[in-house]
Amino acid sequence: MFKIQEVENGVWELGIDRPDSDHNIMDQDAVAELDSLIEKIAADDAVRAVIVSSGKKTFVAGGDLRELLEAATPDRARALVERNRHCLRRIETMGKPVVALLNGPALGGGLELALACTYRIAADSQKVSLGLPEVGLGLMPGAGGTQRLPYLVGSEQAVKMALSGKPVSAGEALALGLVDELAAPGNLMDAALAALARGDVPTAQSWDKGPFGGVIPDPETEAGRAVLGPFLRVVTGRAARNEPAPAAIVGAMRDGLATDMDAALGIEQDQFARIASGPVAKARIRTLFFGVNDAKSMAMRPKDEPAYAIGKVGVLGAGMMGSGIAHVAARAGFDVALLDISEEAAAKGKASIAKSCDTAIARGRMSREAADALLARIVPVADYATLADADMVVEAVSENLAVKNTVLGMAAAVIRPGVPLASNTSTLPITGLATPTPRPQDVIGLHFFAPVDRMPFVEVIRGEQTSQQTLARALDFMKALRKSVVVVGDGLGFFTSRVVAAYTGEALTMLAEGVDPAEIDKAALAAGMPIGPLAMADMTSLPLLKDIFASITGDGGRQGLQGMKANEALARLVDDFARAGRAGGGGIFDYPDGKPAPWSGLAACFPPRAEPLTPEIIEKRMMHAQALEAARLIEEGVVARPTDADVGSVLGWAFPSWTGGVASYVDMVGIDTFVAECDALEATFGGRFRVPEILRDRARAGEKFNAA
Ligand code: NAD
Repeated sequence: MFKIQEVENGVWELGIDRPDSDHNIMDQDAVAELDSLIEKIAADDAVRAVIVSSGKKTFVAGGDLRELLEAATPDRARALVERNRHCLRRIETMGKPVVALLNGPALGGGLELALACTYRIAADSQKVSLGLPEVGLGLMPGAGGTQRLPYLVGSEQAVKMALSGKPVSAGEALALGLVDELAAPGNLMDAALAALARGDVPTAQSWDKGPFGGVIPDPETEAGRAVLGPFLRVVTGRAARNEPAPAAIVGAMRDGLATDMDAALGIEQDQFARIASGPVAKARIRTLFFGVNDAKSMAMRPKDEPAYAIGKVGVLGAGMMGSGIAHVAARAGFDVALLDISEEAAAKGKASIAKSCDTAIARGRMSREAADALLARIVPVADYATLADADMVVEAVSENLAVKNTVLGMAAAVIRPGVPLASNTSTLPITGLATPTPRPQDVIGLHFFAPVDRMPFVEVIRGEQTSQQTLARALDFMKALRKSVVVVGDGLGFFTSRVVAAYTGEALTMLAEGVDPAEIDKAALAAGMPIGPLAMADMTSLPLLKDIFASITGDGGRQGLQGMKANEALARLVDDFARAGRAGGGGIFDYPDGKPAPWSGLAACFPPRAEPLTPEIIEKRMMHAQALEAARLIEEGVVARPTDADVGSVLGWAFPSWTGGVASYVDMVGIDTFVAECDALEATFGGRFRVPEILRDRARAGEKFNAA
C-alpha cells in the first residue's frame, strides 16, 4: 500500500495506493505498515525530506469503519487509534520536512494525516475538499484533528469545522491557513520540490514551538456561548441529550489547547474512545454509512436484467411533486414531457421549477447556463401522444383512485410495452392501481418525498405483478437521479406512510384525550424529531390530513389502529370547529407572529385531561408506536430487513438518526425494556401497543432487533 522512492537528491516520495480499494482506507494493518516505514525514514539519514502523495482520486480516506463498529469497549476503540497517534506524532517530530500533496478530498483521518505533515499543498481544483466530517457519524476525530487544526485556522474556525462536519474548498483552505499553497492539479510534485528548494517547508510544527494563543472558553460562560454561536444547541441544548459527540469535541479542544501536544492528543484519545465505543456512534455508522451506501448502490436491483437506457421521461401531474420529479429528471440530463390537465397547468409547474433554479443561482449553487439548459429539457404538455417515445413515466396526479386510474390507463395506452409506469402515490396499493392497466407487470411505485430536489430518498414499491425488468429499470432511473432507495412490498401506506401515520396518529390521539399540544410537540422534539407532529399536521393542512387518515386507516382492523383516535380528532377540528391548519388561518395552534401559540378554542374542542401525562410517557407513546409499526411491517414481509426500516426512516421522515433508525431504536432502548414498556402502554392505552411476536421472539432469544 505504501511505496517509497527517491525523487531527487535526498527527497523521497511516500506514495499511498491501497491495492484492493478505490480509497486509501487506513485499517490497522495499513497503520502498522506506515508506522514502521516512518520509523525507517526517521532513522535514515539519506532521506532528507518526504513528500506524501496519493495514487487515488482522494488523498487518504481515514480509518476503517468496520473495525470501529466492532470496537465494543473504550479500550478497544482506544487501541484502534493508538498506533496512528504514535505514527503521526513521529512524522512531525522526526526533524525532517514533510509535504502532503492534497490531490482530492482529504476528510477525517485523511486530513489528520495531512495536519501532521509540516507543509500542505492542495490542488487548485473543485475536487479538493478538506474537513472533519466525523460528527455526522456520531464520532469525533481521534488522530489529532481537534488538536492540530486550531493552531492552523484558529479556535473558532476549528470548532466550526469539527461541529458542522462541513468541508472547506481548496481556496478557503488557503485563506484559512489550513494549506500553505495551491498548485495546478498536475503540478503538485513540482510545487513540493520548489517549496523544499526554497527552504519553505519547516522541520517542526508551530505547536511544538510555543503555547497556543487562542482558547476555547467553557460553553457555559458568556465567552463560550459567543464562540460556539449557532452550535451551542448541539453542545449544551436539547440535541446534546441524544448526541454526545459535539460536547466531547468541544471539551477535547478546550482542554487540549491548554496543554502541550502530547498531552492534548491523549485528551482527545480518551474522548474518542468513549464516543466511538458508545451506542450512538455505532447506530449512526451502521445506518448512515453502511445502510445508506447499500441504499445508494441499488443492492436490490435484479442482477440479470440489462442496464436500461433512458432518454425521455414523462411526468403526469405538474403539481408540487410532479414538478419536483420533472426537475430532478431534467437535472439528470433527461428530456421531460411534463403533463397536466392543460398546457397552462403544466406550464405553471415548469414555472415553479424555473423559480427554484433562480433561488439556486442566487445562492451560487447553479449557473444561469446550467439552469437554462435544464429548463430547455422540460416541455409542458397536455397531450398523451407526447408520451409515445418516453422510456419512463411517473404519475404524480392528485391522490384519488379514480383520477389515478384514468391517468394511468391513458398513459398505458400510448407508451411502449416494457416502459415502467410508476406511481408516486403516498398510500394507494400499487397492485390495485396496476390491475386495470393492460400491462400490470410494468407498473411500480416510486414514492418520492418533498421537496423532491432535496430529499435523498425514494421508497420503491413492488406490486404483486411488478416484473423484475420493471424493478431493474426503475432502479436504473433512481440511480441516475442519485436517490437512495429501499424496496418494499405493497399494501395501504406501504412502509413509510404507515409508520408516519402511527406517529401522527398517536399525537392526534393524545390531543383528543386532552393532552396539551405544546407538550406533545415538545416531547417529539426532545426525542430528536425535526418538527413536532402537530405543527407538522397544521402545515400539511388539516382537511388534507383528514382525507389521508381516512384513506390510510381504511383497513381499520389492523393492530396498529386499535384505539387510535386520529380520525375523531381530525373530524372534530375540521368539521366541528372549522380549523384548517396553518395556511388556512390556524389549526391545532394559532400563528400570531409566525410561531405556534395556544389556540383559545382548544379546551372546548378537547377538554383537558384531569391528570397530565409525563413528558416521558408522551415521548414513548409517539416513538414506541413508530417502532412497533415498523416491526409489524417486517413481520408482514412488507419490509425485508430491519436495516431497510432504519435507512427509510432516517432518510424518509427524519426519524432521529442518533437512534440508528426506527428498528435500531428498539435496541437503543434495549429490546427487553422496550417490550416491557410496550406491555405497560398496551394495558393503559390500547391494543395498538401490542408487541408483535417477531420482537417478543428476539427478546426471548436475547437477540437484537437489528442484528446487522
Ligand atoms: P398537487 O395537488 O400539488 O398536484 C397534483 C397535480 O395533478 C395538479 O397539478 C393537478 O392539476 C394534476 N392533475 C389532477 N388531475 C389530473 C389529470 N386527470 N390529468 C393530469 N393532471 C391532473 O399534489 P402533490 O402534492 O404534487 O401530490 C401528487 C401525488 O404525490 C399524490 O399522489 C400525493 O399523494 C403524492 N405525494 C405527495 C407528497 C407531498 O408531500 N405533497 C409526498 C409524496 C407523495
